[in-house]
Amino acid sequence: MQINKLPIAIIGGGSIGLVAAAHLAKRKIPFILFELGSSVGQNILSWQHIKVFSPWKYNIDKIAEELLLQTNWEIPNKEGLPTGKELVDKYFHPLSQHPQIQPYIHLNTEVVSIGRKGLDKMKTANRENKPFIIKVIENNQTKYYEAKAIIDSSGTWNQPNPIGSGGVFAEGEQEIKNNIFYGIPNIKGDLLNRYKNKNILVVGGGHSAMNVLLDLADIQKKYSNTQINWVLRKKDLSVVYGGKEDDAFEARGALGARLEGLINGKKLNVYTHFHILKLTVNKNGIQIDGELNGENETISNIDEIISNTGSRPNLDMIREVRIDLDASLESVFDLAELIDPNTHSCGTVRPHGEKELRHPEKDFYIVGSKSYGRAPTFLMATGYEQVRSVVAYLDGDFESAKRVELNLPETGVCSSDSVSEGSCC
Ligand SMILES: Cc1cc2nc3c(=O)[nH]c(=O)nc-3n(C[C@H](O)[C@H](O)[C@H](O)COP(=O)(O)OP(=O)(O)OC[C@H]3O[C@@H](n4cnc5c(N)ncnc54)[C@H](O)[C@@H]3O)c2cc1C
Repeated sequence: MQINKLPIAIIGGGSIGLVAAAHLAKRKIPFILFELGSSVGQNILSWQHIKVFSPWKYNIDKIAEELLLQTNWEIPNKEGLPTGKELVDKYFHPLSQHPQIQPYIHLNTEVVSIGRKGLDKMKTANRENKPFIIKVIENNQTKYYEAKAIIDSSGTWNQPNPIGSGGVFAEGEQEIKNNIFYGIPNIKGDLLNRYKNKNILVVGGGHSAMNVLLDLADIQKKYSNTQINWVLRKKDLSVVYGGKEDDAFEARGALGARLEGLINGKKLNVYTHFHILKLTVNKNGIQIDGELNGENETISNIDEIISNTGSRPNLDMIREVRIDLDASLESVFDLAELIDPNTHSCGTVRPHGEKELRHPEKDFYIVGSKSYGRAPTFLMATGYEQVRSVVAYLDGDFESAKRVELNLPETGVCSSDSVSEGSCC
């Protein structure tokens, strides 16, 4: 088939992949979307019990809303703060069911590799005229699809960082992985029995860790034998508390303020500037050996570990594509100076589009949280602007691709020392 007649392939049916689909549908450009999970918004559903900090008005893309309004969609209260489940149930799922989108979504389909048909990464001749070839495992079967362009929106959430010091697995970490929850467990819901009256260690210094600590503190009120320990690599807790009442996202600021109250009320043990080196299990539970402010330190008798040390992009599947990534963040190269978490916080990232997201591989784009690599500062609204611009460009609408149409609130809080621990989200 001629390359121009092929669809554009979207990898991942999370928030940004689905909005990319909406923009392609609106422009009547053929597309195909591959989603690893059995539902769209799979990664969001893994933290479905958590309320986001940005209100609906920032979470709904304009074009997606336009399409949804053609159906019997119930518009959420724009000032309200949805949980992860509400985001999927009230927005992403209905969007995925739109008649111009639904037929092109392949669920239970994992993309394992992407390349140019018949050409490895080294070959240049006629490269731009060859279709992309996508190898997938679809409902347990290996299949190949061709596409004229790729929008990789596969996120980073299902590639959590290890808890070991320096970004590598601590000795023993993989052996005891059944005692470690990477992510945000539903502590007050279906996992209550796992955590109530237990001695728990939380690792990480970002908003995910804060949500976990606050949930543990809630169950501690009723189950008073619940003990909470918090290990973080940062030295300075004020960095973790963030902007508090100065944060433009009130709900995000409130997390820091509540956490400070718990620490002042001695509801949890805090180990600041702790580096985990070794994990072992003995008859009393898990023992954590590491360094606290440069001195050897051991934390003992832990029943459960919850890890929130950020996440990293899956680069294996794009090994045969010519991409340009920043050496430290693993973000799209041109984004690094805009998003480096050493100097930017969630709301202060300048909007950007197709131009900044371009790679040496023509018509290949990494968007969404994956475009930020390991930087934790991504907001859905930023991703919507990315795909609006990329889709316009792929449609030959270069004027629209160049325009910046996003206006985010400033947080006024710039943190440093935050790259490794998922400071924002
Ligand atoms: C607790 C929490 C609170 C947050 N609060 C806010 C907020 O208030 N405001 C805000 O703007 N943002 C918030 N965020 C961030 C935001 O939700 C995410 O960054 C955003 O959803 C990322 O979208 P994405 O589409 O890039 O990735 P994801 O939503 O992670 O989607 C990626 C999708 O790709 C699929 N996938 C992965 N690998 C493959 C593969 N190989 N093949 C096929 N499919 C694949 C996954 O299953 C997933 O469905 C929050 C995040 C968390 C964790």
